[in-house]
Amino acid sequence: MIMLKQFTGALSQKEKSLKELYSLIVEHGPVSKSDLIKYTGMRQTTCSRLIDELLGIGLIVESGYGESSGGRKPVMYEIKDDANYVIGIDISRTYTKVLLMNLAFVVLEEARLTMNETTTPAFTVDFISSSVHNMLNKFGLTQDDILGAGLGTIGPLDRENGIILNPINFPSKGWENFPINSLLSEKLRLNTLLDYGANTALLAEYQQEPFKKHKNVVHVLKGIGTRTSMIMDGRLIRGTDKLGMLGQGHMVVDLYGRKCICGNNGCVHAYSSISAIKEDIISGLEQGAPSIIRDWKSDPKEMDFDDICRAANERDSLVTRVVKNAAYYAGVGLANLANVLFPDVIILSGPTYTNMDLFYDVVSETAAARCRNMYPNQEIIFTRGLLGENASAIGAGRMVLDHYLTDHTTRVDYV
Ligand SMILES: [Zn+2]
Repeated sequence: MIMLKQFTGALSQKEKSLKELYSLIVEHGPVSKSDLIKYTGMRQTTCSRLIDELLGIGLIVESGYGESSGGRKPVMYEIKDDANYVIGIDISRTYTKVLLMNLAFVVLEEARLTMNETTTPAFTVDFISSSVHNMLNKFGLTQDDILGAGLGTIGPLDRENGIILNPINFPSKGWENFPINSLLSEKLRLNTLLDYGANTALLAEYQQEPFKKHKNVVHVLKGIGTRTSMIMDGRLIRGTDKLGMLGQGHMVVDLYGRKCICGNNGCVHAYSSISAIKEDIISGLEQGAPSIIRDWKSDPKEMDFDDICRAANERDSLVTRVVKNAAYYAGVGLANLANVLFPDVIILSGPTYTNMDLFYDVVSETAAARCRNMYPNQEIIFTRGLLGENASAIGAGRMVLDHYLTDHTTRVDYV
């Protein structure tokens, strides 16, 4: 019997055909036999035999009838959601997420760890492994039921060897040259795949109905840093390893502007990062500006991201002014990016966009207005992501399923 986990490595001709058919059902399901014949060019008898085989081993199911094109209504096929499960993991600078999902990427169980100075790599790996252990127990599953674990995280990464290289601004120590893949696969006893969290988040968002009809989608994930990923002509574009991700945060928007942590002057990051926003608020307070923050914090240095969001949402005058200014610089950077790539859609995600309406509004309006000046007849859609904080972990699970599928438009080959 052929199981999904065997859809990799050297395959017989028949296994290749089963894998191709299954991949097409993942992509197009529910789908009729005549459409599958059209996509594959298989003979009808061959296609029928392979469909029966996939039904027999429980990888696909019949899912009712489709629209008739004259004759009888065709039987539709789709994948069996619970034929296997996947684990999706997201390690970021603010939290670690662990999800158990079925093959439709419905989240069955989740665990979350807030990152701080105590969440060292060893602590985090223990958290992930005990979370997975509890999830399997709760659902009566074993390692055999799990296709694998996908991890989306902060770069720069050595994806080939599964290593987190030297990420900046992690709240705890020890993440340099950390061989995360080998440790996780040993602890979880699962095949583990690694990619940038920004890439996996885009993989997940791109499966959502409003986005998947577009060929060119850019995703900006803004938390402590700014991470950018893109699908061009239906394919995920990957940054160069060991240099980190394609970034928008260090795009220069003011030639003689503020000094940035990267060494250059006038980067988007120097104006619109969470720490830049915080510093600007503190300097406003020091200059005597009235603000609700004074009532909340005797020492403004203790102000955290949640305080800033709350004050912005309450339209505090100082915080509103600072956030608008930060968002303006981020919007100009985003317009520069849009003018190079001209995507159909730009998805804005991450805590800064999700938790601060003012920031999101000013960035998207600034960028959209500048794009309209350049290209009055072509609208770029600016929108928020649909999956929120779970996007990277869901996409990390998606990466695992993709690993077992035949190459098709929205995927890349993972090592
Ligand atoms: Zn910079």
